[in-house]
Amino acid sequence: MDYDVIILGGGSAGLQAARSIAEIAGQLSVLLIEEDAQVGFPEHCTGLVSLSGIEKALRLNPEQVAMNYVRGAHIVSPSGFRLTVEKEARVAAVVDRPLYEQKLFDIVSRRADVVLGVKAEIDGVSVKIGTKRLRARYLVDARGLRSLVSRKPDARRWVLPALQYDIQVYSAETDYVYIFLGSKLSHGFFAWAVPLDEERYRIGVASKGMVLTRIRYLLRRLERLTDGEVRPRALRKVIGGGVYTGGLADQVKGNVFYIGDSAGQTKPTTGGGLVYHSTAALLLAKALKACEPRAYSAGVKRALGMEISGQRFLRRVLNRIPDGQLDYILMSVKEIGGEEIISRHGHMDEQMRVMLNLGWEILRKRPELYLSILRSLFYAIVS
Ligand SMILES: Cc1cc2nc3c(=O)[nH]c(=O)nc-3n(C[C@H](O)[C@H](O)[C@H](O)COP(=O)(O)OP(=O)(O)OC[C@H]3O[C@@H](n4cnc5c(N)ncnc54)[C@H](O)[C@@H]3O)c2cc1C
Repeated sequence: MDYDVIILGGGSAGLQAARSIAEIAGQLSVLLIEEDAQVGFPEHCTGLVSLSGIEKALRLNPEQVAMNYVRGAHIVSPSGFRLTVEKEARVAAVVDRPLYEQKLFDIVSRRADVVLGVKAEIDGVSVKIGTKRLRARYLVDARGLRSLVSRKPDARRWVLPALQYDIQVYSAETDYVYIFLGSKLSHGFFAWAVPLDEERYRIGVASKGMVLTRIRYLLRRLERLTDGEVRPRALRKVIGGGVYTGGLADQVKGNVFYIGDSAGQTKPTTGGGLVYHSTAALLLAKALKACEPRAYSAGVKRALGMEISGQRFLRRVLNRIPDGQLDYILMSVKEIGGEEIISRHGHMDEQMRVMLNLGWEILRKRPELYLSILRSLFYAIVS
């Protein structure tokens, strides 16, 4: 054996896996292989992560990696109607992804072997690099969405192309993100605007089809959609990527462990992956330390399974609701005190609790709303 563990892919998931194994199962020798010459690039993420997630799952001090902090969200309906949910204090940070991955890389490269700028493939129980082969007891596939789609072609249905622009704006508030709903901006997801600082916003769209047209539309309408609060000045940077909303895939096969986007460890509602795969990295390290590889799969399902399944169901319902109905639902949610319920119970990483609270309140006060989305519910159940 050349190594106990070889990790393919040095994105957030591969780096967190390498770090957790080095810290928790330090007796195992680890090699991490990344095909790009530098970690953190090319960028593809918005970087919005809950503060509790940064501390507990990413295990970093937010001050080390945050570009900005937010405490609430404006949810804008297709016709421009707005729901605002907020906490008293900051709840999330906009993480500088390249800086975050560089920090992890610094930690990992002190404790494990790392090779950058080399593409590797899994071939049975070994790793192929060009004509060379390396053998390991365990392989960790952290190669992202490409790996997931190559193993599970039907997962492609749930991968939405995404495009983000970093734009310069006239001075704006920095502690609320915007979520824009409606079919003009996205089919199958939503559009967003996240403040990076007082003069920069990251706006984005993930959608089935026409992503470029939609983000241009968002840019043109941004000022109106934000009631004049975000006024674009200039385009600074364009970032591409793919958001996965399909739920968990295989976590283990033989001696190969999957982690991150490669394992479907993302939130089907919002596409966020950092907290979930950092949680999985800890579970992986504990399973390897205990020499119980199967405990990884069981641990991930226990920690994330219910939440991801619930979110996947919600995403499927939302995808089927026409714009007019979405407007009506958001207005009704506001009328029954939904903003307060979401503000009180909402958590970026544990969304089912707030959905159950809201669902119950709707059942008590406006049960006819369920009738209005009966078709969407039906399709979500059978699809
Ligand atoms: C538009 C967008 C916005 C997002 N916003 C957020 C957000 O706000 N908050 C959040 O938590 N999450 C967000 N996400 C999700 C998050 O970015 C992903 O879940 C996360 O990047 C997945 O990390 P990963 O390491 O699994 O995959 P990746 O980051 O894709 O890393 C995979 C790595 O493997 C390498 N690799 C691939 N093939 C090989 C090979 N053959 N050999 C060697 N190396 C290889 C790649 O070069 C890459 O570095 C967003 C995603 C997108 C697309």
